[in-house]
Amino acid sequence: MAGLNRDPEVTLKLLHQTHISATTQNPICHHEFPKLNIELNQLNDNIINKCIDECYLKYKTTDEGHIRSSVDINPKAWVNIFIFSMVKATNASGNIQVPNGCCNTDKCGIKKFYEIIYDHFSGLVTN
Ligand SMILES: [Zn+2]
Repeated sequence: MAGLNRDPEVTLKLLHQTHISATTQNPICHHEFPKLNIELNQLNDNIINKCIDECYLKYKTTDEGHIRSSVDINPKAWVNIFIFSMVKATNASGNIQVPNGCCNTDKCGIKKFYEIIYDHFSGLVTN
């Protein structure tokens, strides 16, 4: 295995890229969330950056968050995928369907992070 990079951080970055491309192109499963009554044109950079910071901090206090994973490499990418799914759901019938290209287990860090993001946006609903 000469030349194989054993740096765990490099391995994790590769894993992250794999998860992102599977999530956007060929997801293993979708996580469903009820639609939220959010004004999408209010989702500016400030709100999105606040979401990334707060959700990531909360995620790091969970069991799933204690293990370094794809989420840690680029939390923003997962928030963006969630927002994209939320936008897509506003123009369609049914629930928000968020793709997951990692796995379909209950202990999935990406699934946990999505749940935290959903809770965060639920808190922004004003009515
Ligand atoms: Zn997973």
